[in-house]
Amino acid sequence: MIVLKSPRELALMRNGGHILADVMDRLREIVQPGMATQEIDEDVEAFIRKRGATPAFKGYRGFPATVCVSINDEVVHGIPSPHRRIKKGDIVGLDLGCIVGGYYADCALTLALGDVPPRVQELIDVTRQSLDIAIDECRPGRRLSDVSHSVQRHVEAHGFGVVRTFVGHGIGRELHEDPQVPNFGDPGRGPQLKPGMVLAIEPMVTMGSWEVRILEDRWTAVTVDGSLAAHFEHTIAVTEHGPEVLTSRTGRSRQKAA
Ligand code: MG
Repeated sequence: MIVLKSPRELALMRNGGHILADVMDRLREIVQPGMATQEIDEDVEAFIRKRGATPAFKGYRGFPATVCVSINDEVVHGIPSPHRRIKKGDIVGLDLGCIVGGYYADCALTLALGDVPPRVQELIDVTRQSLDIAIDECRPGRRLSDVSHSVQRHVEAHGFGVVRTFVGHGIGRELHEDPQVPNFGDPGRGPQLKPGMVLAIEPMVTMGSWEVRILEDRWTAVTVDGSLAAHFEHTIAVTEHGPEVLTSRTGRSRQKAA
């Protein structure tokens, strides 16, 4: 069942989303080669708590940290560690959520640390663009799979792979609510989008095959073929006037606003 959010609920989710927008700005500044992934996690946890919010992932199904840090061929759900240091040339996926007033917000971004080959930068750019394109589909009257299809079409047109195993999701009082939001599929299917729906849309894109496997830590998902992967995510409210990106202070995707 898809739960529609009231204006009061959207206001709480907007508060959480704006905290995450600030975290993403901070991550763009602080993440540097040489940093241990656990240092990132500690910084972000302190930042979120100082703002009066609670980290959403810590303890969720036993996940031990505030931020999922997924490097290079890691797609999602990498666990921060004091022993894992970021290297120049890495691409680093950072995924996190927070809770304000009982409501969740969720976001992710991928950073290139230093110079990366043009095709790797293209992977990151195309993944981010596919999120922007999907956000633009979040309008009353569109169908859910129009969102999914728009991601797949853009990504595959550039010769990249769309991960199937993990999908976006509704979000609100729970981190994962109905509906599931795949990043692939035919258009024109599924429920019609309505004002009050809130979706976490999160394309996960690889340079090779879309197949993933889970490491022995039972969390980290890596590409089976070892190809690099990128991940971006925003929490988006469908409104009468179109999409509102709750995890952006402008209400629009940062990339489009810039
Ligand atoms: Mg998510």
